[in-house]
Amino acid sequence: MKLAIIRYGEIGLKGRNRKYFELALERNIRNQLPGVRTRTTGSRVYIETGNYVLEDVKRVLDKTFGVQNYSIGTLVGFELDDILSTCLELAETEVNKGKRSFKVETKRAYKKFPLRSMQLSAFLGEKVLERFPELHVDVHNPEFTIGVEIRNRGTLLFSNKFQGSGGMPVGVSGKGLLLLSGGIDSPVAGWYMLKRGIDLHAIHFASPPYTGEKALEKVIDLARLLSMYNGGRELLLYNVAFTKTQLSIHRSVQERYSLIIQRRAMMKIATEIAEREGYKAIVTGENVGQVASQTLENMIAISSATDKLVLRPLVGFDKIDTVEMAKKIGSFEISTRPYEDCCTVFVPKEPATKARVVDILRAEKDIDFSQLISEAIDETKLYRIKLGQVIKVESLEMDN
Ligand code: ATP
Ligand code: MG
Repeated sequence: MKLAIIRYGEIGLKGRNRKYFELALERNIRNQLPGVRTRTTGSRVYIETGNYVLEDVKRVLDKTFGVQNYSIGTLVGFELDDILSTCLELAETEVNKGKRSFKVETKRAYKKFPLRSMQLSAFLGEKVLERFPELHVDVHNPEFTIGVEIRNRGTLLFSNKFQGSGGMPVGVSGKGLLLLSGGIDSPVAGWYMLKRGIDLHAIHFASPPYTGEKALEKVIDLARLLSMYNGGRELLLYNVAFTKTQLSIHRSVQERYSLIIQRRAMMKIATEIAEREGYKAIVTGENVGQVASQTLENMIAISSATDKLVLRPLVGFDKIDTVEMAKKIGSFEISTRPYEDCCTVFVPKEPATKARVVDILRAEKDIDFSQLISEAIDETKLYRIKLGQVIKVESLEMDN
């Protein structure tokens, strides 16, 4: 029987937290590999992978936060012959890959097994050498290690160890709402928050007809990509019709303040949705000093439009680092498609870089935000996305 063994970073996990973490990790894996059985013992999550092929299991585990590293192995009984033949198969695969040095490492949790760990390792090592004379043992720096774990349920053998993405299982840290533009930064910011275990959903502000179908498609594709990293949960994307709000800001405020006030309007709408849907934090791709809207003064003015916690995971990133991450997670190619987002359309020529909150409040005092917000929310479309697919599109029904 094939088994995947997952090791998680356990530092700082105690008591109930640990149980909560393990259950979330197991559930997130089952979401993505329907039908598998999972079990946690001794700080490891074991998955009976059933009919899934190695590649499918790998593809899922590579993107599941909470997985520090993992191996895929074979579970046999306690018969020495079975253990040996599985061990030789594993060695053969490695020899065929050109590996030449190895060691056997045995852990014996099941104490009734007649051989001690060292004895079993020595026995298997010798047999491997007999069969594959081209190999030699290197206990300090082997090219491959055959792991043998003798457990109550049987003997588990594996020869590989794959690096996982680390982090925390999605869902253990509460719900957050990502302001997702079509740019490079916000999807990367979202990825980092998923990595911290936040069950993340996304909100996008579109301004049709100034922004087109293609721009929306890009955002949907980014949300679909993020849904490959959220433990197989449903990811909600709120697509807010922002045109009316934007036009009204454009008409009534001095041009230099319009960008900040637009951002404040986004915060207000996001806050309204967060309030109703239980999102504790709002996440943005903002970064100090990158563009005019991202001076400390302007960031204060923007976040003072909400009482939610505003998380900016990229705040200390260089653009070059963000781009590298975007490439790694697969969002770069989508983000760099050439379609306008709502803010590039209305961007002022000379935006204020050091807006004071009092001046902003004065500038926006004649705008009826509550009216605009409720109209925008009424026209919001909700995309339900799961495992990379849009499964349903509906209007946002809220009882107000
Ligand atoms: P990004 O690459 O994420 O667009 P950026 O460096 O271009 O970021 P801005 O365009 O100033 O910076 O946007 C700052 C943040 O505001 C974005 O990271 C995003 O979180 C949010 N944001 C901007 N425009 C939109 C939009 N149309 N819909 C949703 N969020 C937006
Ligand atoms: Mg942008």
